[in-house]
Amino acid sequence: MTGSLVVVGTGPGKPELMTPATQAALAAATDLVGYGPYLDRVPMLRADQCRHASDNRVELDRARHALALAASGRRVAVVSGGDPGVFAMAAAIFEAVEAGDPAWRTLDIRVEPGVTAMLAAAAEVGAPLGGDFCAISLSDNLKDWTTIERRLKAAAEADFVIALYNPASKARPHQLGEAFTLLRSIKAGETPVLFVRAAGSADSEVVATTLANADTSVADMRTLVIVGASTTRQIGRWIYTPRGAKS
Ligand code: SAH
Repeated sequence: MTGSLVVVGTGPGKPELMTPATQAALAAATDLVGYGPYLDRVPMLRADQCRHASDNRVELDRARHALALAASGRRVAVVSGGDPGVFAMAAAIFEAVEAGDPAWRTLDIRVEPGVTAMLAAAAEVGAPLGGDFCAISLSDNLKDWTTIERRLKAAAEADFVIALYNPASKARPHQLGEAFTLLRSIKAGETPVLFVRAAGSADSEVVATTLANADTSVADMRTLVIVGASTTRQIGRWIYTPRGAKS
């Protein structure tokens, strides 16, 4: 087999936030596979490059398609937004390898890191991830809501800063509200909450509020929500979490 597969992330939006290593991998690929809007962020790099755009919900089918193309000798780049390993295609590729054709295990598969949404969102407001933090996806497409609640509760009790990916979509409008209700039962009402929409892109928007006042209607599929720890604070127009938390 001479084909290869590289999983890349376009970063949060701005072309400058796509790494040079990712750009080189995209330029070398004969085939690009990904969700249409992410592929649209990739400029046409070679006239002979094939683009295979798919719907966002069919990640495993897309992964199998990419692996089959690589196995047939193509140089394939699978494109995610942000970082490909954070709630994205890199894990889907390995899930497909694990369950699929044993020959796929010998393929040349590589993952290039990218700038994930929570890093771009944090940079918009200061340094809210300056202390210990965790990331939780609120999507229950692939896991039970009870698992999500258990993790939210544990993260709140341990006083982590919490980055919430996939806070809301048209199919799941109520979950962020349920998450806030749970967090309010553990964390102080004045805990800073940040809604950062389209972070790291030209049209980014920030809403800074508190847990008591957080309005879920601000969040959509392009929003990253950061819920502070007890030490997260505002200084001038910046929000940050100190690195230390001695008690
Ligand atoms: N692999 C991506 C995350 C995919 S999950 C990454 O590393 O960023 C999709 C979720 O990521 C969205 O619902 C949203 O919560 C978040 N997201 C992706 N890009 C974003 C951006 N530019 N600004 C804010 N949130 C973003």
